[in-house]
Amino acid sequence: MAEPSSPAHPQDGPPPASEALLELRAVAAGYGSMQVLWDINLSVGAGERVVILGANGAGKSTLLRVALGLLPLMHGTVWLRGEDVSGLRTDRRVARGIGFMTEVGVFPELSVRENLLLGAYRLGRRQAQNNLERTYDGFPLLAKFRSRPAGSLSGGQRKLVGVAKVLMGDPSLIVMDEPSSGLSPVAVQEVVEVLRQVQRSEVALLIAEQNTVFLDLAQRAVVIEGGRRRFDGTVVELRDDAALKRAYFGIE
Ligand code: ATP
Repeated sequence: MAEPSSPAHPQDGPPPASEALLELRAVAAGYGSMQVLWDINLSVGAGERVVILGANGAGKSTLLRVALGLLPLMHGTVWLRGEDVSGLRTDRRVARGIGFMTEVGVFPELSVRENLLLGAYRLGRRQAQNNLERTYDGFPLLAKFRSRPAGSLSGGQRKLVGVAKVLMGDPSLIVMDEPSSGLSPVAVQEVVEVLRQVQRSEVALLIAEQNTVFLDLAQRAVVIEGGRRRFDGTVVELRDDAALKRAYFGIE
């Protein structure tokens, strides 16, 4: 019998999953000669919500930096909607639909309105104004506080400005580094509620967190331990894994 024929369109490697908005393949990265991430595979589909869970220093922020192009790869590739963007600058990736919310998220000395408009810097004036109206409609608190310096708001409210600012740029994916950082448990819950509103839109979320509360929003969880991917599956599967359950939920 004849051998099966080779594929009609051979490639150097398999193409990224057709559904993936963002895909990291066999990624290694670090700082100088210190390697922090090893062989990480990760994908986020359109509209999907993924939480990267891991302890302090596990490599979550480093992973986000690689996805955004803020840190060069030692190995592997990064894909956006099927395009290899591994060599592309951060601003080019942002132009392709990634929005980034850092731990701080806002400029405290600028007003809420100024912060929001910064989020739409890539868009034309009219579009930015439309998005501002949309933001005020969606988050009435921001309309009320529009003239106040962002730094005068509570921690939870500042995160709200941060989320709304990223949404002003009409991203397809928001990458968030530790949105719970520096917040009280009550404020964390407020941020989760804000993200629930985002959840109703088509925007995908990739959230790096230590706080398992954010799993309530997620369809998938990825666990990073010591720079390696330890788990990738649904939140239900994560809770079913006895060792991970002990490590992250503190229950037997
Ligand atoms: P955290 O929740 O504390 O931010 P993390 O999981 O996000 O933790 P990273 O910030 O990615 O972890 O850090 C992973 C490792 O890389 C740590 O050992 C950290 O000390 C190191 N690291 C992070 N940033 C730098 C940097 N700019 N220069 C050198 N080493 C760094």
